Parts: sequence; C-alpha cells; structure tokens
Amino acid sequence: MSGQTEVREFQAETRQLLDLMVHSVYSNKDSFLRELISNASDALDKVRLESLQDKSLEVDTSDLHIQLDADRDARTLTVRDNGIGMSRDDVVGLIGTLARSGTAELRRKLAEVKDAAASEELIGQFGIGFYSTFMVADRVTLVTRHAADEAGTRWESTGDGTYTLDEVSDAPQGTSVTLALKPVDTDDHLYDYTDPAKLRQLVKRYSDFIAWPIRMDVEKTVPAPETDDTDTDDGTGAEPTTEIVSETINSQKALWAKSSDEVTEDEYHEFYRHVSHAWDEPLEVITLKAEGTFEYQALLFIPTQAPFDLFMRERTSGVQLYVKRVFIMDDCEELIPEYLRFVKGVVDAADLSLNVSREILQQDRQIRAIRRRLTKRVISTVGDMRASRPDDYRTFWQNFGRVWKEGLVNDIDNRDALLKASSFESTDSADDLTTLADYVGRMRSGQDTVYYMTGETRQQIENSPHIEAFRAKGIEVLLLTDPVDEMWVSSGLEFEGKSFTSIAKGAVDLDGVDSESADDETDTEKAKADKEKRTEEFTGLLDWLAETLTDDVNEARLSSRLTESAACLVGDTFSMSPQLEKLYRASGQ
Ligand code: ADP
Ligand code: MG
Repeated sequence: MSGQTEVREFQAETRQLLDLMVHSVYSNKDSFLRELISNASDALDKVRLESLQDKSLEVDTSDLHIQLDADRDARTLTVRDNGIGMSRDDVVGLIGTLARSGTAELRRKLAEVKDAAASEELIGQFGIGFYSTFMVADRVTLVTRHAADEAGTRWESTGDGTYTLDEVSDAPQGTSVTLALKPVDTDDHLYDYTDPAKLRQLVKRYSDFIAWPIRMDVEKTVPAPETDDTDTDDGTGAEPTTEIVSETINSQKALWAKSSDEVTEDEYHEFYRHVSHAWDEPLEVITLKAEGTFEYQALLFIPTQAPFDLFMRERTSGVQLYVKRVFIMDDCEELIPEYLRFVKGVVDAADLSLNVSREILQQDRQIRAIRRRLTKRVISTVGDMRASRPDDYRTFWQNFGRVWKEGLVNDIDNRDALLKASSFESTDSADDLTTLADYVGRMRSGQDTVYYMTGETRQQIENSPHIEAFRAKGIEVLLLTDPVDEMWVSSGLEFEGKSFTSIAKGAVDLDGVDSESADDETDTEKAKADKEKRTEEFTGLLDWLAETLTDDVNEARLSSRLTESAACLVGDTFSMSPQLEKLYRASGQ
C-alpha cells in the first residue's frame, strides 16, 4: 500500500439512501448477493469483450470467474471477480455517488419516505444495486484494479456519510467486495451469510444462470481408504480426512438457449432482474427462436413497473446483444424501436462478428429482420394480454401507454396493430378504459368519425363546454390527456376506415348523427330551420362580437354545440389545439 488515506463525503442524496439501507427493514435482504454477483458478472463480460476487441490490453482471460469467500470466525463475506475492474475515478463516480439512481425521481421519493413500509417499497421499486450491501454489512470494503491500470484502489465505508480511498499497489486485476456482516438476526431477515449452505441456496435461487462460474471453497470429508467398518466411529478405524475443494455452485446455463418448458417462472424472474437491474417482476416473458440460415434466440421481458428514467434522454439498458453466448453490448437500440424502450432482455445472434460495431449493426439486414420480428411479437403479446389478462394489461397501459403511443406516430408499418392494442379514456367509460373497437361498436348510426378531445386532465376536458352537445346527444368522446396524443391523432391515422375528429376544432356537424333520445328526421329539419332563424336574429350581436374581439378570435358564430354554456372558443380545423399550443409555448416556440 502507498499514499495516504483520503476521506470523502457522500453526496447528500447518497447519504440519505445509505441511511435508508443501514436501517432497512426490507425483508429481502438476501438480494445483496444477487447484486454483487450481477456486478461481477457484468465486469467479466466487459473484460472478455475488451480483450477480444483490443489486442493491446494485456489480460489473462483464461479463468474468468467469481469467487465467494466466507470467514465464519471473522464474520466476513467476500465476493471477488477478475473482471474489468475500476479506475480510481470510476470508483468515485460509480460507487461514491448515486450513479444510476441520482435522479430527480428517486430524490423526490426519498424525501417522502416516512415509515418502514414506504422505505421497503422504495427499495423494491428502485433496486438499489451496490448499496444494498449496507442492509447486511456494518462495513463494506472494495478493492479494485482496472485491467488497463497499474495500481488499484481501495474504497471503504460504514455507510455513515463518508468513505475512504487508498491507493493499493498490489491489487489483483478485478474487484473484490468484502462485507463485515451484521450479527445474524433472523427476525430482521439477517441470515448467516458465512454459511456455505446458505450461500449455495442463494446462488441457486438468484444467480444460477450467470454465465461465469461462481466458486466457493468447501470442506469435503474424504473417507479414509480401506476401512471395512465405515458406519461406526468408535475410533478404531483410520480417521476420515477433510480437504478443501473448490466447487462451482451455479449451473451456468443461458436461459435463452433453453426451451421454455425447461425453465421455471422463478428462474425467468431472476434473470429478468439481472438484465434489467430492476427488482420487480416481469409482467410478460417472451421467448423467440429462429433456426436456419440466420440463427438467433431472444428472451424478452415487459416489466411491471416503469423505470424512473423512461422519459429521460440518457436512459439505459434495454435489450442486450450477445453473439454465441458472448456479451457484446447493453442497450442495443438497433434491436428494438424507441417506443418499445421499456422492453428488457437478451438477443443472442449466431452469425455476427464479435467485433460488430453500432455502425455495422445499423446497416445489417439480419438485425433489421430481428427487430421487425421482435417488434411484432411484443405488439401481439400486448394484444393477447389485453384479451386474456385485463388487470395486467391495465397495469401495462398505465405504465407504458404513453410510450407505446409514440409508435403511432413513428412506426408506420405497425400503426394499425398498435392502435388496436391501445386503450383510451372516454366519456362512456367512468374509470375503465375503452378500445377503439369497442368505441366503434357503440357509435351512433350516422356517426362516421371517432370524436376526441385533448386536454391536460380528464376533469378539465369533461368540464369544457365543448363536450356539452355531445353529452346531450349521447355521443361518446375519447378523452386524451397525454402530450403524445396530439401528435398521432392529427397524423391522418384512421381506425377501420374511421377518421378522428377533434370536438374542439372547426365546425362539428352533429346533424346527421342520431342522438340517443331523438330519432326522427323532422327533428333535424326543425333544428336547421331554427338555427337559420336564430342566426338572423343574432347577426347584430355576432358582428359586434367579431369586431370587438378582432384581435383574439377569427369569427363569431352561433353554435349548436352548447346546451348549458353561453359561449366557447373554438379552434380552426387546421389550427393548433389549445393543448398543443401550450406544449409548444412551454418548449419555447
Ligand atoms: P448497476 O449495476 O445497476 O449499474 P450498481 O450500484 O450495482 O448499479 O453498480 C454501480 C456501478 O459500479 C456499475 O454500473 C459498475 O460500473 C460499477 N461496478 C460495481 N461493481 C463492479 C465490479 N465488480 N466490477 C466493475 N465495476 C463494478
Ligand atoms: Mg448492479
């Protein structure tokens, strides 16, 4: 060791998070091991890839593995890997700060944490990676050396607001994390993580599919040779001896390469947590296989919870690309369209080069073919979910509907399928959602368009005077409140030959549409005559209004759309809706 110890403070929100961990009542404290193994596995993937792509990197990749070392007397557990390791800056940037969780959303939620239940939920929801170690350890020591560096770094913290950094001259390449474990307290869900049986059980449960060997030294009792009396231990025969042997405790089977009937639901769920770095359960597991000239396998997941960075520019980790079991990249945008960015998982393609770059991927015909197929499968899966598991679908739609609808604007090929599997609020659906097919099924005879209105909230739209005439006539109106709705709805899209018409724009002609109560022709005839008569009566007032409000409105006219309000403002058919106008104004245009 050399240099001096540097003491640094955690950022405020990191400190808050650590505090939450140290005092956590989270019942699934075991997850810390999964997080450490997952990080080690990622680091091994990276070093293999870098050594393949960069021949000047001098690393021995012949025995990449993860090692668990438990010391029962000292009550420590060490998880060690000989992966890519971290530079000192990496350690400060990745471990010392809230690298992945340093977001407004988590910060906001942290501020709200009041009780044990809330903190438990927060931990489960955000999936606190490395810091989860502080649920089980009083002190965490990390020693690491990046494959390209000479010297290593030692990081240590008790989770109390500061951490120390030291230079380590003789650190092996890779990372080791040593936990000084809290006392066993099963009431508090703290088990004996130095017990080989416990470790074996946890690895089997959480990390069995990890592609790298996870090893542990275990004592094996070797029976003494040539004993004819092995059942008795009266001490007369030769003593059995104990030996330390290294045991690989995971089966290392790539789940995507197995057929789905060989994989349990739990295994899929754990794999999902590994690839997504999340702690929830997938809503849907999708497996895909192609054989023949171009082989690939895919294992995809639709999460239950939306990640907090769904709408952030620098969001990460969607679909990972592997080539023949070798990890190539995270977040492979070429494999899945942006509006399906919530989909997590793995695609393993057999015929790509390990040196494949993003530029090559963008041109690759086969990648494009995979992307087309994955896209269609995700869309049909959601369609099926809606039909067979409405509750899950509702969860899906609440979390991802807004992203999904971006596809209505961007993915011309799949628009119809996307629209079919979409849902909407409407005046006829009190709290439930309606599909367009159901809407069309309820359309009044003579109605040839889907009526909608956009706004910020359902309530705002429902209180708007524009709705009145429709309500009076019993005509259903879709209530669209997502910013993206403005985009697709005005893009000329049709559903089963029906166009979309805003009730807040232009002249809405309801005369041909049968209302709920009214039925006969004479009614509409009479209405027309009435309107003409009234227009004559009101000419003076209308002219005066147009004159007085000349800067603010284009024209003043009598309307049949109102039944209770005296007047309302209406946009031109081709003008921006108030919602879109606001959107543009907010973005400074
Ligand atoms: P996540 O894995 O979701 O990024 P973590 O909190 O688990 O979040 O880890 C933060 C970061 O620290 C990782 O992204 C990685 O860059 C780095 N890291 C953690 N453990 C290791 C390790 N064993 N080897 C190399 N880098 C690591
Ligand atoms: Mg992690």
